[in-house]
Amino acid sequence: MEFTYNAYQNLIGLLREKGYTFCNYHNYTQTGRSVILRHDIDMDIGKAVKMGELEARMGVSSTYFVLVTSNFYNIFSGRSQDMLCRLIALGHEVGLHFDEAKYDAAQDDLVQAMEREAVLLEHCLGREVTSVSMHRPSAATLDADYRIRGGRVVNSYGREFFHNHKYVSDSRRNWREDVLRIVESGAYDRLHVLTHPFWYDEEERSAKEELKWFCESRIDVCYGDMKDNVRDIEEFLRREEL
Ligand SMILES: [Zn+2]
Repeated sequence: MEFTYNAYQNLIGLLREKGYTFCNYHNYTQTGRSVILRHDIDMDIGKAVKMGELEARMGVSSTYFVLVTSNFYNIFSGRSQDMLCRLIALGHEVGLHFDEAKYDAAQDDLVQAMEREAVLLEHCLGREVTSVSMHRPSAATLDADYRIRGGRVVNSYGREFFHNHKYVSDSRRNWREDVLRIVESGAYDRLHVLTHPFWYDEEERSAKEELKWFCESRIDVCYGDMKDNVRDIEEFLRREEL
């Protein structure tokens, strides 16, 4: 499958054609044949909003997972908060993306850390957080079947969603299994599909092109933010000089 909005749209069309109901982590048991669309926001919330808008146009809602510990974005900035609220307004759910690398698994209680981060995200969104996904999970985390808030918060890497569902993902811009063939086969009643909106675009771009575009676009974002904070910035540095 290509990493374009068109290809993603076709995937949604195929799922619909094959009789899948678009569900979230809480309501999938209400239907015999379900698909949970999950998106991890690793670097760029703007790209997630683009995908969220596309899904909303197709009448589909999904779950977006956002980091509270990212070096790439700050969920409490006005800009990020507006985008996350936009995802919610479009009918999507926003859950916590948890990066265990920030913690020392030998010393820290990771479930407590998730619960603390969930509270932060709840402050940011002004609503309850009911699902968590892991960013680059270790083998131990994949195996742990964590119970978060006594099971009230869904762990998308829990046994139910990782083993009892057919799980397919485009991690590192690579579908390890052919998602279209899996949907086409109709062999699975419970599908769990992870995509990273970062890799998708109007036209097919290589990983290198996408990463390069992202780095270059950050110069504009950075300069724009400096402009808001340094009066008459042009006296020191003009955009063209970058
Ligand atoms: Zn991630």
